[in-house]
Amino acid sequence: MWEEGAREGPPYPDSASGQTGQAKEVLMKYQLETGVVLYPGDKHPIVISIREYLARFGYWVGAAKATSDEFDSALSTSLKRFQKKMGLEPTGYFDYATAFIMSKPRCGVPDIGSFAEGTAGGRWNKRYLTYAIENASEELSMTEVADFVQQAFALWEGATPLRFEKVDLSKNHDIKIVFGRGEHGDDIPFDFQGGVLAHAFYPSPYGGPFAGDAHFDDAEIWTIQVPTDPGKIDFFTVAAHEFGHSIGLGHLDDPGSLMYPYYSGPHRYLANADASAARDMYAAFGQLQFYEGNNATQNLVDFTDDRPGQNFRPKQNDETRSMRLVNVRKGCVISVFDHPKAKTSDDYTVIRTKQFIDMYVLGTYEQSYEDAFVAVSHKHKNGLDGKVSRIKVD
Ligand SMILES: [Zn+2]
Ligand SMILES: [Zn+2]
Repeated sequence: MWEEGAREGPPYPDSASGQTGQAKEVLMKYQLETGVVLYPGDKHPIVISIREYLARFGYWVGAAKATSDEFDSALSTSLKRFQKKMGLEPTGYFDYATAFIMSKPRCGVPDIGSFAEGTAGGRWNKRYLTYAIENASEELSMTEVADFVQQAFALWEGATPLRFEKVDLSKNHDIKIVFGRGEHGDDIPFDFQGGVLAHAFYPSPYGGPFAGDAHFDDAEIWTIQVPTDPGKIDFFTVAAHEFGHSIGLGHLDDPGSLMYPYYSGPHRYLANADASAARDMYAAFGQLQFYEGNNATQNLVDFTDDRPGQNFRPKQNDETRSMRLVNVRKGCVISVFDHPKAKTSDDYTVIRTKQFIDMYVLGTYEQSYEDAFVAVSHKHKNGLDGKVSRIKVD
């Protein structure tokens, strides 16, 4: 059964045509104002909209074409999934707390599963990315949009080796920034004001033909002023969030993070959770190449998919004359040992990168030195004999 609240509610939203966020907002307001609670077994027209909402954001576990207005077990299971993810008690009922979260404006990218062809986890395999801005919003000028887009990208530049450069729309670009209303070219239409604020596509291949692009719903009243006036949305915050998707990050459960799916006012910084998610994705982004004599890559240590603290053993233990760093992140500490047990009581060399390294060749391990790129410190006990046995990357 479903229970009537004390007050008489507004009419039910028209579920048949309720494909829009406006209908969803009516639905949520209805629930909030009347205190209706829905339980498994109930029949109610708003069940259709709740199912649509859960499906849209990745929580629906039932059949794809379900259209019934009955509160079935699949809806209950899906609601539990949503409630759990949002830190609510997973009751499986449609209650006030659940409706309250669903009524908040948010990002259009699903919290679980795919978006168009997208799945979180893809990342750019290059460091320099370009972006172009197609249009400005109704409230913001092109200059204002460009200014705040740049600042939003700068947040991610601070946490990754990625660098973003604005180019003309006519030039090749990795990321396109678009303001649109309703259907705007990608078959993922925006709703009216409120509901979904924006969405973005993951890097190729996950993002499909729109990989990296960020779309903003121009039905919102965008602003760059903080504190924001009621009803206005901070463009900086939403842009920074969407660009998180553009570089491959999914949503985070931490309500204090920028990558949390719901918008609750300006958040113009990366929380620790955001920064570490970005670091995890882009930190270990390099390769060490060891050269034996004049010959090329006798030994390759590729730490693209590894995490700080990882130990590597070269494929061969031959005399090494030089080492090349390729695409190594800033602040990387590479310890090279000539003892297989990597004992610091033996000879070892520590290389610390002072900035992102595109390519850098180190000579034989003889003298400690420092330049703009690296600080190299040799700890000789017996004289490094050039045989590399173990490398530790931090
Ligand atoms: Zn998002
Ligand atoms: Zn779009």
